[in-house]
Amino acid sequence: MSTQLVLKQRAELLTVLCVGGTAEPLDCVLDLLLAWEVLVWEDYLSIRVAEKPLCSNVRQLLDVVYEKGEDACSLFLAAMNQVLPEEQKAGLCFGKECAVVDKNRLDTATLTLLADRPALVRKLRDNIDGALNALLTTGCFTIKDCDAVQLPVYTPSQQVRRLLDQVRFKGETAAKTLLQYLEQTEPTRPNPENKENHLSADVLLYQKKLRSSVAAQSHSLSTYGGTGRFSLDDIYTDGLLEVMDGSGETTTLGLEDVVGPLGTLNEDADTVLVSGEAGSGKSTLLQRLHLLWAREALLTNTFLLFPFSCRKLNAEHRELSLKELLFLHCCWPDRGQDEVFQFILDHPNLVLFTFDGLDEFKQGFTDEERHCCPTKQVPIPLLLFNLLQGTLMKGVMKVVTSRPQAVGPSLKRYLRKEVLLKGFSPGGIDCFVKKHHSDPAMARRVIESLQANTVLLSLCHIPVFCWIVTKCHQELLAGQDGVPQTITDVYLLVLQHFFQRKSSQSQGVLGKAWLEEHLDTVLKLGQLALEGLEASCYVFSGHELQRNGLTEQDVSIGFLIYCNDLSVTDCKRYEFLHITLQCFFAALYVVLNRNSDRSAISRLFQPQYRQTSSRSQRCLGHCIDSSVEDGESHVTETLNLRITAQFVSGLLSQRHHNLLLECCPAAVRERKAKQVVKSLSKGMQRHFKSIPRPVDGDKKSTHTMPSFVWLIKCIYEVQDNSIAQDTMAKLNIEHLKLTYCNIGPVECTALAYVLKYLRNPIGLQLDNNSVGDVGVEQLLPCLHICHSLYLRNNNISDEGIRNLLEKGMECESFQKIALFNNNLTDACTQHFALLLKSKQNFLSLRLGNNNITSQGAEQLAQGLSYNQSLQFLGLWGNKIGDRGAEALASALKNSTSLIWLSLVDNGVGSAGACALAELISQSKTMKELWLNKNCISREGVESLIEALKMNSSIKEVWLKGNNLSTEEEEELSKQESRLTF
Ligand code: ADP
Repeated sequence: MSTQLVLKQRAELLTVLCVGGTAEPLDCVLDLLLAWEVLVWEDYLSIRVAEKPLCSNVRQLLDVVYEKGEDACSLFLAAMNQVLPEEQKAGLCFGKECAVVDKNRLDTATLTLLADRPALVRKLRDNIDGALNALLTTGCFTIKDCDAVQLPVYTPSQQVRRLLDQVRFKGETAAKTLLQYLEQTEPTRPNPENKENHLSADVLLYQKKLRSSVAAQSHSLSTYGGTGRFSLDDIYTDGLLEVMDGSGETTTLGLEDVVGPLGTLNEDADTVLVSGEAGSGKSTLLQRLHLLWAREALLTNTFLLFPFSCRKLNAEHRELSLKELLFLHCCWPDRGQDEVFQFILDHPNLVLFTFDGLDEFKQGFTDEERHCCPTKQVPIPLLLFNLLQGTLMKGVMKVVTSRPQAVGPSLKRYLRKEVLLKGFSPGGIDCFVKKHHSDPAMARRVIESLQANTVLLSLCHIPVFCWIVTKCHQELLAGQDGVPQTITDVYLLVLQHFFQRKSSQSQGVLGKAWLEEHLDTVLKLGQLALEGLEASCYVFSGHELQRNGLTEQDVSIGFLIYCNDLSVTDCKRYEFLHITLQCFFAALYVVLNRNSDRSAISRLFQPQYRQTSSRSQRCLGHCIDSSVEDGESHVTETLNLRITAQFVSGLLSQRHHNLLLECCPAAVRERKAKQVVKSLSKGMQRHFKSIPRPVDGDKKSTHTMPSFVWLIKCIYEVQDNSIAQDTMAKLNIEHLKLTYCNIGPVECTALAYVLKYLRNPIGLQLDNNSVGDVGVEQLLPCLHICHSLYLRNNNISDEGIRNLLEKGMECESFQKIALFNNNLTDACTQHFALLLKSKQNFLSLRLGNNNITSQGAEQLAQGLSYNQSLQFLGLWGNKIGDRGAEALASALKNSTSLIWLSLVDNGVGSAGACALAELISQSKTMKELWLNKNCISREGVESLIEALKMNSSIKEVWLKGNNLSTEEEEELSKQESRLTF
């Protein structure tokens, strides 16, 4: 009974409709109930009383639907089911599905608006101006009506609802006018081209100027700045972009979708976050968007685009109004300033702001102070945060980039969606190398050398490493110092490359002691870099360079570049080629500086105890903002110091002993190296101690945090087996959970390097990362220590599986694998068949949501018929059909181990069910059979019932969503209580 469900769940329904304090869910439910005629207009007015708090509005709704009886309650539950996001539905029961009856054709415009209300709210959101204009010019609305609709406190959806309410109040003529208007227009985002007719010459001129300055600024990549060889067009290679929906499923995106609707989680927010690790290509992606907009090749609905860099905004200490921010930092209007600004205010939906590197903004995001006046001067953080929240300039789309760890929950509330940038795919790496080398033979050689060294290949998934590796191809192919294995190796390569370039300009050749020769420059750059990192300072004035003793000649080597800046400033400013290079120089300074205090290394490995050194306070005084106290703002600093610590670990590795020999006294080097090893070992133990004790029933699971990944990456940099062994042998882990931790191929290399030394086999849970085939290959060295491997949603294909299983067959402990939602096809099932045949202790195989058809199932069956250990087989969401089900059923008939089988959503019909019935009649071990979402009809179910009569070990057979009427389901479930429909 739906009335009972509403009554029993009253508290829960109240909570989900009030959660977050926004009335949007309630309003969406009301829209549907009005459209379905569950509520009449008077009910609606009695429920949605603006003066009352949200929870009393919701209580009133619950009372009204309850009083209306059974039908109203079941439609109310259906509306809730439609409106709530998946994660809020857990634990709620919505009763049986009920059909919403299509009403007869509506004879008045007012009723039509009511019936279409849910769709109209969506359609009109972006076109309120147009609708109001139509109502105003026909005299249906007054200016006052329009103002009341467009109050800035309302979200666009709320504004549409107020508009619809007002139209209803005005009567049939207003309703007809609105319908006519809707018929004439395609009510999506307005096309700016149409608007151009009405645009003044000044606004058009401004657009032209903005386009040309954005084009000039985004034309070339700063990492190629000195060489002048490449434009962005020549070298830009698409990275992997993903969005996650509310239930954790990911979808791949194209560049054009970054601003589009795909993946939207919060319709009322206007800020899109592009997140990715340092060097994953976030700035380059924004630059590409800017360039394509400037050329009118993308974002054609965006009339004005304003690009900002947060690291440059750090240097703005004045209080500015929005108008000043746009005009001073992006583009100055030569004429009609007021008119241009009014245009921006009037057309938020035609404007886009981008903010690169929010993680480098000195102040952490807070939403404590509201500011909504576009002309009032306020400090930059207040301006920025209110833009991101939408308090200021609601409706302007914003794209923000940041490292994922630096975005806290307070900002997440204001995000429309989060796009993850995962670096290059394997194809992307090839494509990048080919673009970089115009000589195809050279490109081929570089690609071949990468293929031959999968560690290096895995590093190349991160674009900034790929850039270095490709740039330093000569050093790489010459292979004098062995093949690079770590990121420290890669950065030493680029260091060498730049010095080499400089010496060959002066006819010199780099000698063996090249680092010593350039030690002076390295130390000066290193000091600047470290002090900058400690003070969150990434842009330096010429004056600061001078103070550190850096000369024109030092700068000309190329590690520092001029800031590419649109803002109106009079002095030259410099930054490191990339933030990771700043970290590398900081690390060189920590390692090579003879005078460094003893705490320098511990400060790096425990950044929470960091104190800004007195020297950086003196030199970079302007960077240190005494008002910045809150914790979130230090996240980036910590992240950068962690990258630095990783480089320090690598530089102090025995591998680089010879290079450092003359640069640093052996005793100092030894002491520092010991300090690093001790910090790593302690850090690891502290990390595992700090993990909250697992709850009962979950006692085996150890959830690890990103700091674990960082520690193992540092251990990997050291490249000393005995250190990895010592650190890991002390740990007692049974299950390592690293889900959603940005684990890519690089992290897999480090993971395998240390995990192989664990004493006991573990379950390694890497679900929802981007391991890919290259990452799988990197994991092989630790496969023998994994009894279970969870790789759900990781972009793995048949090739990766072939490698994995070849090794897996030799690993005695390896017993379980979960590969839900990867790119597997029938080409991988032969390998599983072989594994099942040869490994008679294998327990669990889960291959849900891949592309396996009947052919794959038949191959799998060949292995299954020889196996006597498998207990769990999951094939949910494949396409095995009747033929596949028949093959599996016949192969499993003799199994003495199978407990659980899922063929949910596989296009299995009655023929498949009859084959499975035979399996049931013979199986002595099976307990659960899952057959939901197939096309089994009565005949199939009857054969299952017959079989169940002979089998008492089966506990449940699930048959929801098959080809049966409700009556048939009722009748058949009476015959056999173990069936669930
Ligand atoms: P992030 O902003 O994530 O730190 P960047 O965009 O600064 O990363 O990328 C660092 C370097 O990597 C760039 O300067 C460029 O040389 C290279 N790179 C990044 N993304 C791409 C891309 N899509 N195509 C070509 N090169 C890229």
